[in-house]
Amino acid sequence: MSAKRDYYEVLGVDRKAPADEIKKQYRKLALKFHPDRNNTADATEHFKEISEAYAVLSDDAKRQLYDRHGHEGVDGRYSREDIFAGAQGNFDEVFGRAGDFESIFENIFGGRAGGRGGDFGTKRGADRMYETTVTLEEVLRGKQIDTEIKKRITCTDCRGSGCNPGTGKNRCRACGGLGQIKQTRRMGFAAFVTAMPCSACRGQGVIVESPCSACKGQGNKKGKKFCSFKVPPGVTTGDYIIQGEGDEVPDGENGDLILRVRVKEHELFERDGKNIHILLPISIVDAALGRTIDIPTLDGKTTVKISSGSQPDTIIKVKGRGVPHIQQGGGRGDMHVHLVVTVPKKLNRTQRNLLEEFQRESNR
Ligand SMILES: [Zn+2]
Ligand SMILES: [Zn+2]
Repeated sequence: MSAKRDYYEVLGVDRKAPADEIKKQYRKLALKFHPDRNNTADATEHFKEISEAYAVLSDDAKRQLYDRHGHEGVDGRYSREDIFAGAQGNFDEVFGRAGDFESIFENIFGGRAGGRGGDFGTKRGADRMYETTVTLEEVLRGKQIDTEIKKRITCTDCRGSGCNPGTGKNRCRACGGLGQIKQTRRMGFAAFVTAMPCSACRGQGVIVESPCSACKGQGNKKGKKFCSFKVPPGVTTGDYIIQGEGDEVPDGENGDLILRVRVKEHELFERDGKNIHILLPISIVDAALGRTIDIPTLDGKTTVKISSGSQPDTIIKVKGRGVPHIQQGGGRGDMHVHLVVTVPKKLNRTQRNLLEEFQRESNR
């Protein structure tokens, strides 16, 4: 009902602005309006507004939805909590993981960005991000990762119940256990019904009799968890989801771990899907006479035969020495050897004599 401002306008960027410009601009504004730094009355509101805009515009899928259908498109599909939960990694990117801003999200949005999500439907934990760089050799074999992930984990003191031992939860009297309070406002002919999360129970519908002192009744708390997984062979640069390895929510759905993979450029090989390409400089003499040469591959050496009379830009295909496809599995692609015929810049006396003889022979 309230007129929501255009997200691009809020961040002051062009509709076509690339992702990193949006990130830069958000960072600039967030530092300016962060309530810890900015005491003006509407700083918090403004911080919320730019954060929401960034949460949507930093997420490819949501940005597309917004571009096509505006606020309705996004709000119709995602709850506010979903929007922030989905963008957790993007905020981490701006502020650094576990940065100073963590507490601000807890204060402003009630729970780690999206972590609570409790108003309507099941609670869902926030997503976490793990970034890794893989070499082309690791693309061939896959990469085992054993690491600790910082996230909210189930409280061991109360086993996630949020209650001190021997105590329980009672239905919230303010909202009758619904977790929300409906308000009807008459404006002219129309009646507007708005549902707000109940503030007494923070949308949970229940009130913890005696909150667990270790987790303040949340059921989960900041911690670390060991996580072991394999980046599969054939991986490409992009984001992969490891379900349920994000923030733990004892009575809801765990968030996901977003695995952000960047495949490093190789100094010799260029990758093109399953195939890899290598440049092989050879002399004009080798091209003319032919030769067998040992060349490197991603796993050991192989021998290629250059046939006599090879022309510049000839491609020799070495079957099965590329990389696998992440989904198709099984076979590897090929290695393409591009012949780069080079002309010697310096000749010694003998080489010069021989080539001069070759020249005389050719021009006869
Ligand atoms: Zn606890
Ligand atoms: Zn309530």
